Amino acid sequence: MDLNGSVALVTGASGGIGQAVASMLARSGARVGLHYLSNSEGATALAASITAAGGEAAIFGGDVSDPEQASTIVRGVTEHWGKIDILVNNAGITRDSLMLRMSPEAWDEVLSVNLRGAFLCTKQALTHMVRQRYGRIVNMSSVVGITGNPGQANYAASKAGLIGFTKAVAREVASRNVTVNAVAPGYIITNMVEQLSEDMRNQVLSRIPMSRFGTPEDVAEVVAFLCSPQASYVTGQVVGIDGGLAI
Ligand code: NAD
Repeated sequence: MDLNGSVALVTGASGGIGQAVASMLARSGARVGLHYLSNSEGATALAASITAAGGEAAIFGGDVSDPEQASTIVRGVTEHWGKIDILVNNAGITRDSLMLRMSPEAWDEVLSVNLRGAFLCTKQALTHMVRQRYGRIVNMSSVVGITGNPGQANYAASKAGLIGFTKAVAREVASRNVTVNAVAPGYIITNMVEQLSEDMRNQVLSRIPMSRFGTPEDVAEVVAFLCSPQASYVTGQVVGIDGGLAI
């Protein structure tokens, strides 16, 4: 993938998948804005490793669910490099519990970060992308947004919401040469999967046709393609990265 000359922003870049996506975009030649919420050491270390490998990165902190802060994060990138070509809405959280026990706060918190955060960052980035008549937006959905999952009504709703959001915005901005796609990872080895009990891990593995968990790099490869000029005629799509789990 040749992303030379491009400027990208990856939200939640200090997390498992975010780090892999940011590194892959940088290796492909993009200058990458690394957004973090609280893990500034993680973001700083990632920026150092990208720079050491000959790439360019800068870090931007803030809460994507807050309108002011989301604007400031995106503006940070456009002021630093003069433009934004790629936005990867990756920041996300889970607050799992069965429906009857789920608090309104746990519902709101997940919807705020996962869905409202993507809306706020996209809105700010689009003003630049539409004007420059080029842009690539990738939203991090989940297989759970397609199939549902017990104990994750809030998370599944947010990830299904991201799919509708992706398709609506893709239709709005297609004529401006801005593509908007979603990826739907299955079980990817990060903190989220490492927290599963051994029993649960085995149960999940037995349902995955490829009989393995995914890696953050599996996700990053697909995201990098969707962010590239090569994916110029792909928009409004949801690409599963799940070893066949949702076939
Ligand atoms: P992670 O917890 O390692 O990373 C999530 C990132 O989001 C963190 O960097 C965190 O700081 C950031 N974040 C959380 N709340 C935020 C807020 N209010 N403002 C800004 N940033 C915030 O998790 P991960 O596994 O790397 O997940 C990354 C994305 O991939 C998430 O959207 C997740 O839902 C999605 N996903 C993960 C899996 C999986 O199996 N790991 C599967 C499908 C989808």
